[in-house]
Amino acid sequence: MSTAVVSDRQTRMYIDGNWSDARDGRTHAVVNPANESVLAEVAFGDRADADRAIEAAAKAFPAWRAASAYDRAKVLKKTAELMRERSATIARTLTSEQGKPLPEATAEVLHAADTFEWFAEEGKRAYGRIIPAANVTKRHYAIKHPVGVVGSITPWNFPAALPSRKIAPALAVGCTIVSRPADQTPLTLIQMFECLADAGLPAGVANLVIGDALAFADALFEHPAVRKISFTGSTRVGKELIRRSADQVKRLSLELGGHAPLIVFPDADVQQVAQAAVIGKFRNNGQVCIAPSRFYVHEKIASDFTEAAVELTRNLKIGNGLEAGIQVGPMIEPKALEKTAGLIEDARSKGGQILTGGGKSSRFDKGYWFEPTVVREVNGSMRLMTEEPFAPVMPLLDFSKLDDVIAAANNTPYGLAAYVFTNDLTIATRMAEGLEAGIIGLNDPVPATPQCPFGGMKESGLGRELGIEGLDAYLETKYVSVGLRQG
Ligand code: NAP
Repeated sequence: MSTAVVSDRQTRMYIDGNWSDARDGRTHAVVNPANESVLAEVAFGDRADADRAIEAAAKAFPAWRAASAYDRAKVLKKTAELMRERSATIARTLTSEQGKPLPEATAEVLHAADTFEWFAEEGKRAYGRIIPAANVTKRHYAIKHPVGVVGSITPWNFPAALPSRKIAPALAVGCTIVSRPADQTPLTLIQMFECLADAGLPAGVANLVIGDALAFADALFEHPAVRKISFTGSTRVGKELIRRSADQVKRLSLELGGHAPLIVFPDADVQQVAQAAVIGKFRNNGQVCIAPSRFYVHEKIASDFTEAAVELTRNLKIGNGLEAGIQVGPMIEPKALEKTAGLIEDARSKGGQILTGGGKSSRFDKGYWFEPTVVREVNGSMRLMTEEPFAPVMPLLDFSKLDDVIAAANNTPYGLAAYVFTNDLTIATRMAEGLEAGIIGLNDPVPATPQCPFGGMKESGLGRELGIEGLDAYLETKYVSVGLRQG
C-alpha cells in the first residue's frame, strides 16, 4: 500500500522564511508504525539551529506586532483555507507517521484548520478595558500586548491539532513563534508550515525546528528573547519545565497528562453508552490525553455494560490506518507496546481479569500492534489506576453511590477530563460541580472544539488552550494610569 509521498522540501526545517537543512547536515528517520518502513529522513537540528530560529522570530516580532489584527487574520484564514484544500494529503501523511486511521487523521487536520480560522477572528477581539477611577483627576486603562517570542513543544499523538492550538493564537495577537514537533511525527507539521508559508506569512514570524528536545529546551530557556513557552506533553517533563522556568521567569502554559474517569449512571442507555465508551477509549489507541482510562459503571447495569463493551471491542477492525474501514491502527513505537504489556501483566498479577485482548497482536508481521483490551476486577493498587496508561485498555469498575464515585474519580493527581453518562439533570449537575477536571463531557465522549477552553486542573497542567482563554495565554496585561493636568 502506498503511504505518504514526501518531497525534498518536506524534509526540512523552516527558519526565517527558508526551508533549511540542519547546520551540521544531520538527519533523522521518520518511521511508519504500521510497517516499520522509513517514510523520510528529515533534517535534525541542534542548539545552533534553535538559536537561529529564535533570533529570526525576535527580528520579525516588531513588524508582526505592529500589523493590524485584521491583516494578521488574513494570513491565518488563508492558512486554514490551504489546510482544508490539502487535507487529504496532510491526513495521509499524518496517518503514515502516527498510525491513527485516516478518518481520524482527516478530522484532526480539519480541526487544526478550524483552530486557525477561529483564532484569526478572535485575534480581532483582544480587548483591553477602561476602569472607572476613584480619583476624578485620574483615568485608568488596561491594554493587551502580545507576550513576544513564543517557544512551542508538542508530542506525537496529535501532530496537527496540538501545534495549531499554540501557533494560531500566538500569531493572531502578534507574537512570533518557534515550534518543535516530536521526533516521531515532524512531517505533518512541515506540511502545515507549507500552508503558512504559501498563505504569505512574513519571514521569521513562524519557524519550525526539528531536532534534539533537550538542546531545543536549553535554547528556549536560556535565550532572553523567548518570553513564553507553551508545552504539551507528560506531567513528568512539565514539572521539569516549571523548575527550569524560574531562572528567567519564563511564562509557561502546560497541557499535561490525564487519567480520565468515565462514569455511567443506571438511567443511561447501556448500548449507546457502551458504543460511546468504546469509541472514546480506542480512538488513537487510547493515546489521547483526555482518553477515558477508568470506567465506573453503576452496579445495576455493570453486567450488561460489560457484555456490550466486550462485544464492541472484539469487533473493532484493526489494521493500517490508510485502509478503508479501519478503526484502530498501530501504537506509536515499541516502547509504548512494552509499557502497555507491562500494565496488563501488573493488572493480571494483582487479580485483574482480561475479558478480551490482553497482549501484543500477532496478526501482523511488522509494526507495533496491541489488541484492544478490556479488564475487570480492577483495584487501586494496579499501575493501570495510578499511572496515566496512554494505551488501548479499558479497566472496568463498579459503584453504587454518587458521592463514592466522585471521591474515587477525584482520587488521582490528574484533573484533565471526566465523562458522565446520565439523563438525570440533578445527577449531571452534581457530577459537573463535584469532579476535579478541567473538561467535563456530559453524554459527550469527544468534547474538544476550538471555541471552548481546554486544559487541566491539579497535575494536568497550567492555563488553558482554545477558547478566549487560549488567546489570553499569549497576551500580557498592561495597566496605564493617567494623571490629568489640573486647572
Ligand atoms: P513527553 O515525553 O513529555 O514529550 C512531549 C514533547 O516534549 C516531545 O516533543 C518531546 O520530545 C519533548 N521533550 C521530552 N523531554 C523534554 C525535556 N526535558 N525538555 C523539553 N522537551 C522535552 O510526552 P509524550 O510521552 O511524548 O506524550 C504523551 C504525553 O502528552 C501524555 O502524558 C499526554 O497526556 C500528554 N498530552 C497532553 C495533552 C493536553 O492537552 N493536556 C495533549 C496531548 C498529549 P521528543 O520528540 O524527543 O520525545
